[in-house]
Amino acid sequence: MTTVAQSRFPLCYLCDEPVDLRTAKTDADRNAVHEECYALSMKGAMLPPPEDPANGPLL
Ligand SMILES: [Zn+2]
Repeated sequence: MTTVAQSRFPLCYLCDEPVDLRTAKTDADRNAVHEECYALSMKGAMLPPPEDPANGPLL
């Protein structure tokens, strides 16, 4: 039985999992975020939206 106090850690605002502050990144608004999630969000921000109405289904 694990009763780890999650409140010790802030939640990653991207995936809602607790973030260990020793490895956490913070964004410009000082939200805690996993380094991976942060990287993914950065990538996502660079990419065009996945759904392009003019493009139709890919399959
Ligand atoms: Zn995360």
